[in-house]
Amino acid sequence: MPFLVLDGLDKSFQSNRVLRELSLEIEKGEVLALLGPSGSGKTTALRLIAGFEAPDLGRIRVDGEDVTGLPPSRRRFGMVFQHYALFPHLTVGENVAFGLEGTGKEESRRRVAEALAQVDLPGFEARRVGEISGGQQQRVALARALAPEPRVLLLDEPLSNLDPTLRERTRRELRTAIRKIGITTVLVTHEQEEAFHLGDRVAVLHGGILHQVGSPEDLYERPATRFVAGFVGRASAFPGTYEGDGKVRLPSGEAWAGEPAGDLKPGEPAELVVRPESLVFIPGGLPGRVTERRYAGPVSFFLVALDGQEVEVMAPSGAASEEDAVSVGLGTSGPRPRIFGVGKA
Ligand code: ADP
Ligand code: MG
Repeated sequence: MPFLVLDGLDKSFQSNRVLRELSLEIEKGEVLALLGPSGSGKTTALRLIAGFEAPDLGRIRVDGEDVTGLPPSRRRFGMVFQHYALFPHLTVGENVAFGLEGTGKEESRRRVAEALAQVDLPGFEARRVGEISGGQQQRVALARALAPEPRVLLLDEPLSNLDPTLRERTRRELRTAIRKIGITTVLVTHEQEEAFHLGDRVAVLHGGILHQVGSPEDLYERPATRFVAGFVGRASAFPGTYEGDGKVRLPSGEAWAGEPAGDLKPGEPAELVVRPESLVFIPGGLPGRVTERRYAGPVSFFLVALDGQEVEVMAPSGAASEEDAVSVGLGTSGPRPRIFGVGKA
């Protein structure tokens, strides 16, 4: 049985429908990353789960218990907000104890010590917030959420406050901590890399609509919608007409094969969407010219202008230079191209 269930959550602010029938099931101990661009409804979803907002429709269940009508304090969820404010005039220990009012002194001391140990800051109780690093402050915010021993951990863009040099390291520390604790977690982010690194599964939200839930491999290799194909990883789109049988007829007259995502009828306008590593330079392909080469060590990413469009090819760095005339075709390795109907989701 899934531990945390979101069942048809719908939320509007005035006439703005921000979440549309959001349903998700999260296993006990699982880390689910909720990924989407700014404004896609991620924070709203998290606030509904935490109980800071009420859904217009739908239910939230935890461990079989319906918590939809409960106030945040009775859900036993821990939340780290996007702009987690620590109290600068309090010590680390006092900050972590903040959510423990009503707990006895000894018990409170024990939980603070345990939460600090969980985030790998043992013995930091007496430190001042101002004298620890930004990455350590982030972990103190996490310890503050963990101290009341929540059933579910909710994190809203937990690394967005950190500068890029600290972010990578803190991300690893965060991953280690939540996995060691084994706590059921929903983590919101707009960064694909963060979602792939931290999430066991990733749920992609766009315009309040859940487009796909799956492993990073599922999303990258078998995107369910055109949006996911473009938002997760790099891809080039070849417009044409669906022929049936998993083939798209390109304007040049060639038919290229891929995997249809959803129902498509022969004759419909369609796009074949291809990852850079699934394209190759090969004689007899589509003629084009290299406009840019992005060197990445043994391989490079080549932007190629083909008859009115630009595509991206990953190939050995020595394969071509800028301004070279090349010929682009489908390779035999790399994810199978996906076919999407044009004008569909
Ligand atoms: P994200 O976290 O993915 O960036 P949000 O959930 O914060 O997205 O916002 C989604 C949409 O809902 C936005 O259009 C935002 O303006 C709107 N919204 C969020 N909260 C409120 C609110 N309290 N009142 C009115 N509109 C809101
Ligand atoms: Mg947000």
